Amino acid sequence: MFRFPSDLSIQVKVCSPDQGLDDSLDGNVQSFLIDEEQLHTFDDLTKVNPVTPTTVLKCLQARYSLKVFYTHAGCTLVALNPFQPIPDLYSVDVMREYHYATQPQEFKPHIFNVAEEAYRNVQGQLEPVNQSLVVSGESGAGKTWTSRCLMKYYATVAAAPPAVRSQDTVERIERRVLDSNPLMEAFGNACTLRNNNSSRFGKYIQLQLDRGQLLVGASVQTYLLEKTRVASQPANERNFHIFYQMMKGATDEQRKEWNMAPNQRFVWLPNCEKQIEEDSFHETVEAMVHLGIKAERQRQIFRILAGILQLGNVSFCSSTNESQPCDLDELSEVYLQRAAELLAVPAEELQMCLRVRMLKAGKQNVLKPCSQAECGVRRDCLAKVIYGRLFEWLVTFINSCICADKSKWSNFIGVLDVYGFECFHINNLEQLCINYANEKLQQHFVSHYLRAQQEEYVSEGLEWSFVKYQDNQSCLDLLEGSPVSVFSLLNEESRLNRISDSKTLKVRLEKELSGNRNISWDKFSQVPHFTVTHYAGKVSYQIEGMVEKNKDPVPPELVGLLQQSDNPLLHEIFVDQESGIPNTKGLSKVTVVSKFKNSLENLMKLLLTTAPHYTRCIKPNADCRPLSFKEKEVILQLEACGIVETIHISAAGFPIRIPFKSFLLRYGIITRCSSAGRIDPDVDSTSILQQEVEKLLGVALQHHASGADRRSLVHCGRTKVFLTQPMLDLLEDQRMNIL
Ligand code: ADP
Ligand code: MG
Repeated sequence: MFRFPSDLSIQVKVCSPDQGLDDSLDGNVQSFLIDEEQLHTFDDLTKVNPVTPTTVLKCLQARYSLKVFYTHAGCTLVALNPFQPIPDLYSVDVMREYHYATQPQEFKPHIFNVAEEAYRNVQGQLEPVNQSLVVSGESGAGKTWTSRCLMKYYATVAAAPPAVRSQDTVERIERRVLDSNPLMEAFGNACTLRNNNSSRFGKYIQLQLDRGQLLVGASVQTYLLEKTRVASQPANERNFHIFYQMMKGATDEQRKEWNMAPNQRFVWLPNCEKQIEEDSFHETVEAMVHLGIKAERQRQIFRILAGILQLGNVSFCSSTNESQPCDLDELSEVYLQRAAELLAVPAEELQMCLRVRMLKAGKQNVLKPCSQAECGVRRDCLAKVIYGRLFEWLVTFINSCICADKSKWSNFIGVLDVYGFECFHINNLEQLCINYANEKLQQHFVSHYLRAQQEEYVSEGLEWSFVKYQDNQSCLDLLEGSPVSVFSLLNEESRLNRISDSKTLKVRLEKELSGNRNISWDKFSQVPHFTVTHYAGKVSYQIEGMVEKNKDPVPPELVGLLQQSDNPLLHEIFVDQESGIPNTKGLSKVTVVSKFKNSLENLMKLLLTTAPHYTRCIKPNADCRPLSFKEKEVILQLEACGIVETIHISAAGFPIRIPFKSFLLRYGIITRCSSAGRIDPDVDSTSILQQEVEKLLGVALQHHASGADRRSLVHCGRTKVFLTQPMLDLLEDQRMNIL
């Protein structure tokens, strides 16, 4: 029996040449004539035939040990993180090699290969086609690095030649586009347990090309910044880079202005002692200058950030008398004063807003002192809303100076760098949104992959209805469907004007979604939760705090206070730009989930209008060590990022595809011993080859299958034979019996 093992422990054994096999066989057949020592030579995992988790893993491992980090997997590129700088892998010379190659498919797999393919495809055969480069993988796998490489590639190969550059603005556009990266990373990235430079937001960058394929601008769309990090950092993790950069890189003058002595301790700045390469204040300021953020604007930005840090050191004493607001100790008074000064708001009002809550009783406003815990929540809320708005402003600003006028560009290449699937010890609304985004992308991937596969079936004359596959629609229905879904129930609970209560949501989820096979509950667990079966695995979400996070409420008093700020930037970001009217409403009306769902739907619509290219980044080990390949960790990621899913999809059809000639060379022996006559594999005409293959299949299956059975086992296309594993087994058996 000719079998391909699928468990990790068994080696990929194949036939040896002394079995009379021909080395000159090409395509898929070649792969099962090659032993494990040759596995590293496969630059496309689909050539490892058949693709199983074992063969894929072994192939990637063999390549990784030889410092080959990129491998194609059909329409996907698999990128293994080297965790060390690889000299010359991304140099301008290498970019040029890929760019000027006459046949890029002859080149080794590389991110530049994908980049160049997209660049050439933009032109389209009949009309231009926008392209999307979707980069996925878990935290630390290399998504942001890959996105940077892609941007550098286009900024190099699509840059206008010096002679064409006339205006000043055009001259600097590539530089500006590249400079948007360190700036956004300074504000949106942080050191986490998984990655020292972890992006805490998702982004889609459109690189705008003119009719001559030159880069003339770009625009950035960001998704769901993890702004809670400003006010609370998970154990052993850090706040956003920008705060540490300021702490390290400030001049004496700035320190004085920000009240930030070198030995100053800030509660919201943990793990300051860690040396991280990203702590480069100078680089961030330089990027600001390149992008046109003037010195005075910079000063306003840094004063706001310094104000946030000072605010974090304000703590509240417990109040003995419920009718009295909580007190501040002496030190906190000082920090509050400093925060107020830096945020340019009156200190007494800031203090009042943090300690006293305004309630509506009919038409009247009633003031109610906050408890110690409530004061803390309001302080954190203030920091989060300021930081969130500042980040939004920054992205809008970046767009205003890199985005080309619509009349100047005709097409785009989009680069998507979003957070990968997350499953932590405790998961809440953030993970639910992130994993929902991954479900959406997976759905897009599956439908695109299937389309590509179907196209091959069609071009080979096969009926595509043979392809059966599992899609993740049922999980998406559970999360976002109507009328009842996790999101709809969460939103309903969030819109009710009552104190959030995790029990009510739990009861409703259980009652209204219990029939859904993608959701479950651990009956013995004391913690209110629900478990979703995602395509990448099961994740339990904690219900506690979810409704509140979804509401993301901002007390109107706080917004009112910030609108009064004498810091022009702070004032600007809290005043409705269009009407110039202070914007107090609306801040809490749209829930986090509906906003996210909306922006994601727009993204999906956009992706559907483009030709996608997928890059799956893989983290070979959790410790970020160079050249260490942990099989178990890699296989989990292959599963989670859909490579194994892709294998299943291909297995549902005819995973083994052998060109006619190769097929006849290997199995022709079956007919030579039968009455079907001798087959000459040297003939070139495809139709003759096809007839010979048909004859051979007729002989091989004469005692085994009816017509209907035959169609489910094997199909003869126009240039290739499409086989299932059982059919391959049968042919191998017959072949071995004759030998
Ligand atoms: P992600 O965005 O997926 O969370 P990053 O792109 O930030 O991960 O990569 C994490 C780290 O891994 C980077 O800071 C860098 O040190 C390293 N890294 C990633 N890709 C490469 C590469 N191709 N070559 C060298 N180092 C890399
Ligand atoms: Mg990242």
